[in-house]
Amino acid sequence: MPEPLAPPSTEPLAGDAAEETQRVQTALAAVAAELSERGRTAGGEAQEVLEAASLMAQDPALADDIAGRIGQGTNGERAVHDAFDQFKTMLIALGGYMAERATDLDDVSQRVVARLRGVPAPGVPESDVPFILLARDLAPADTATLDLERTLALVTQDGGPTSHTAILARSKSITAVVGVEGLLAAVEDGTRVIVDAKTGLVALDPTDAEVEAATAEAETRAARADAPITDGALADGTKVPLLANVGRPEDAAKALELGAEGVGLFRTEFLFLDAKEAPSVASQTDSYTRMLQAFEGKKVVVRVLDAGADKPLAFLNDAEEENPALGLRGIRALRASEQILRDQLEALAAADAATNADLWVMAPMIANQEETEYFVALGREHGLKTVGAMAEVPSIAVLADQVMEAADFVSIGTNDLTQYTFAADRMLGTVASFQDPWHPAVLRLIQMLGEAGAAAGKPVGVCGEAAADPALAVVLVGLGVTTLSMSPAAFADVRAELLEHTLEQAKAKAAASLTATTAQGARDAAAAA
Ligand code: PEP
Ligand code: MG
Repeated sequence: MPEPLAPPSTEPLAGDAAEETQRVQTALAAVAAELSERGRTAGGEAQEVLEAASLMAQDPALADDIAGRIGQGTNGERAVHDAFDQFKTMLIALGGYMAERATDLDDVSQRVVARLRGVPAPGVPESDVPFILLARDLAPADTATLDLERTLALVTQDGGPTSHTAILARSKSITAVVGVEGLLAAVEDGTRVIVDAKTGLVALDPTDAEVEAATAEAETRAARADAPITDGALADGTKVPLLANVGRPEDAAKALELGAEGVGLFRTEFLFLDAKEAPSVASQTDSYTRMLQAFEGKKVVVRVLDAGADKPLAFLNDAEEENPALGLRGIRALRASEQILRDQLEALAAADAATNADLWVMAPMIANQEETEYFVALGREHGLKTVGAMAEVPSIAVLADQVMEAADFVSIGTNDLTQYTFAADRMLGTVASFQDPWHPAVLRLIQMLGEAGAAAGKPVGVCGEAAADPALAVVLVGLGVTTLSMSPAAFADVRAELLEHTLEQAKAKAAASLTATTAQGARDAAAAA
């Protein structure tokens, strides 16, 4: 278990200020270099995260602030701690994406203090034997650079299933369970544990028989990962296309390698999290063209900018809101800044014209028929042929028949649909137990959408994390879902599970799970059916 460092003492500086300043500068430079080096080794998404952290350690304003504090008699460790803390407060006040970065400053500050003390940086301990890592939470840099040879699984006390840690862990295929209340108090270092990411259960001190069963299950999973890549289908041949959730054109190669039959969710806002100003039509056209080119002849569902709450964009969300998840986000924010939406649709149409993929476009957070009509009309005006709505707000399920009249398709975002069904913030560890798409309340809403889609002859996909849970994927198909979109790391498991069931069996499992009263009850009922 990684231990945080004790806070630096407030004792005044004992030695020479110039020497102490030099010592701190050396430590800052060493931490910056180490973070860059770790980024280069990790590559991809992790490299971006670590480069950003390295830049924080090289920030000249911070260095000046630290030197000033030392000049006034503060010891070096304390000066680093206080200067980073003040910088963090400033970033939080700026709000949005900068505020999200603020917690990464703690990690950098701790690394510098550790170097000054000559002790190892807090973080993932080194180990020669494979281990299961338990932690309060991990800095994104730690999750991104975990030694996959040795880390058998990851369990954290904080964070919800859609937190940064969970998403990075999934993208690297690390077995992870997050938001386990009371974890650190309950488990001693060296305890034998079983972690089952599929059910979210962590078993302490298991019996030998339990270990044997878990080992067998892990072997089945490994065999699945090696199975041939085929298109998604049930045992009776019913097609269930497996589509990829992607955030940038660079994600395409890996998705295709793992068998993506197309893209079911391109989260375009991921391209612009750092942008201060709305991106130009030309730069957007370039990104979308690259994505569409990679999927020539295949379907690509692009979501227009989903800004707000957990994904704030500086150029779209500038108002302070008490409850940003219930505020001007998704289609509501775009509608309030319609030119940004028009520019994006123009860029998408240009990319579509230049490529040969089958482009579908959808809007997040659509709540009713009127919003659907608004978005579909705007899409058509820009020449887009397939325009749909994401089902994330429960009202859309209640009004599913009306929405289906206006939309070409619906894609269910189970992460938000679950958060809004239970009024439980998806980012908050304290209410993480509500964030379970197996709950019959969520399944019944999905059933309403599936039935309305079938009646209208319109496709209904799922693109939330629920689609990546193999047992739930079968239930979703039984509820009328026609495509499944997920992080490509989940394809092998979902593909294998679908192949073991006919449509009749999937429907029986769905019917059984709908009558349960709890999420666990629904899991059990589906397994027994
Ligand atoms: C969802 O809400 O389920 C979804 C797919 O969108 P995001 O996770 O990006 O909010
Ligand atoms: Mg969403």
